[in-house]
Amino acid sequence: MYVCGLTVYDLPHIGHARTFVVFDVVNRYLAQRGFETSFVRNHTDVDDKIIRRAKETGERPEDLAQRMIDGLTFDMNSLGIKRADVEPRVTEHIEEIIALVQVLVDKGYAYAADGDVYYRVRKFANYGKLSGRNLDELESGVRVEINDKKEDPLDFALWKATKEAGEPSWSSPWGPGRPGWHIECSAMSVRHLGPSFDIHGGGRDLIFPHHENEVAQSIPAHGGEFARYWMHVGMVEIEGEKMSHSLDNFWTVRDILKQVHAEALRYFFLTTHYRNNINFSRDAIADATRRMMYMLRTFESLEQCDAKWSGGDIAEVGPVDNQAEIEALMPSYFEAMDDDFATPRALATLADAARLANKLAEKKGKLKEPRLRAIRRLRTIMFEIGSGVGLFQTPYEDALATITAQEIERLGLDTKEIARLVDSRTTARIEKDWAEADRIRELLVDMGVQVLDRPEDTVWRLI
Ligand SMILES: [Zn+2]
Repeated sequence: MYVCGLTVYDLPHIGHARTFVVFDVVNRYLAQRGFETSFVRNHTDVDDKIIRRAKETGERPEDLAQRMIDGLTFDMNSLGIKRADVEPRVTEHIEEIIALVQVLVDKGYAYAADGDVYYRVRKFANYGKLSGRNLDELESGVRVEINDKKEDPLDFALWKATKEAGEPSWSSPWGPGRPGWHIECSAMSVRHLGPSFDIHGGGRDLIFPHHENEVAQSIPAHGGEFARYWMHVGMVEIEGEKMSHSLDNFWTVRDILKQVHAEALRYFFLTTHYRNNINFSRDAIADATRRMMYMLRTFESLEQCDAKWSGGDIAEVGPVDNQAEIEALMPSYFEAMDDDFATPRALATLADAARLANKLAEKKGKLKEPRLRAIRRLRTIMFEIGSGVGLFQTPYEDALATITAQEIERLGLDTKEIARLVDSRTTARIEKDWAEADRIRELLVDMGVQVLDRPEDTVWRLI
């Protein structure tokens, strides 16, 4: 699997987070299904944007790129995203890129012009097939660009001559310069995965021109079919609008993780099929956070229930409560994920498992072996689904504590005030002033707080 990485001139934003979480799920799920995988995600570490930004920050372009790669790696870790097997950088593949451009020139698909090299778009009969575009429509839509070097306005650069001293530059048969963006991915994918591989992924905004151009470069150069499956991830909208700096609704991964737990964010992403756009709204995030809390509390209840067991070791095999229902869960999860990674349905199966687990954990009456066996099996199933989609990576106690603290902050709750109210309610109960105890309980409910009377004490938690 080859996934287009970032041009490293800035830190990743929430749109990047979604794309990389999606491919992390694909990577984890394929491994769970027993596939041997090889996952490549590149860094574009030389580009006009990097050169421009480095001028603003006063850094050397390579130093800015390194700083952003480190930042990206840190953010990916925070999101619970596994490292790719290979994370190649453009600047480490210049030789391969030059060789590939040369092949395209030799085969007549590219031409040198005054230090630049361009791809001859009309030479490739299938150009536009991937993105469903037609050359003549494209031609009329092309913004008039003053560039006499090109034979055709549709042609794109494979190699760019150095314009200014101090720019990153490499010598080539066409003079000093640097690679164009599209050729990099063609060179790095063949280097690490060969001319044909299974999955090529990226954000939907990359279909055209980036992926269309990759196809146009790779197929004439190497033959083969290039990528067998294309996976494009939909965009993230913010409260129904396109995210942009000008609308002041721009979220970096770092900003968002200050307020939202990484697994709640992942849960939110997985509630929508990866090919569709997703709307990042306060309500949707609050909802995903509550669902995550429910899952984590389920583990807590199951653990408590299991801890009550005093009957010694129980055999793995033997009667299981709700057996048919439990046995249907994993097949239903696999069916969903095998259908183009239908994560919303996988989450629905996870929720079914949690609901049944809670039902069994809360059931009155003496805990017997078949019920305990069912509870243990459900916990295993929840973890198995979690490992396929990358949830429950941190111990549930830790995740629950972090999410609770973030929710208290978001709701603006005063925990001292809550503790005082809970104490007053306890006093009222001791004094048998039931009306006062009820009044305080309802006051707390209005604040989003639930009081739990346990045999040993009284505690509160978020509803
Ligand atoms: Zn790419």
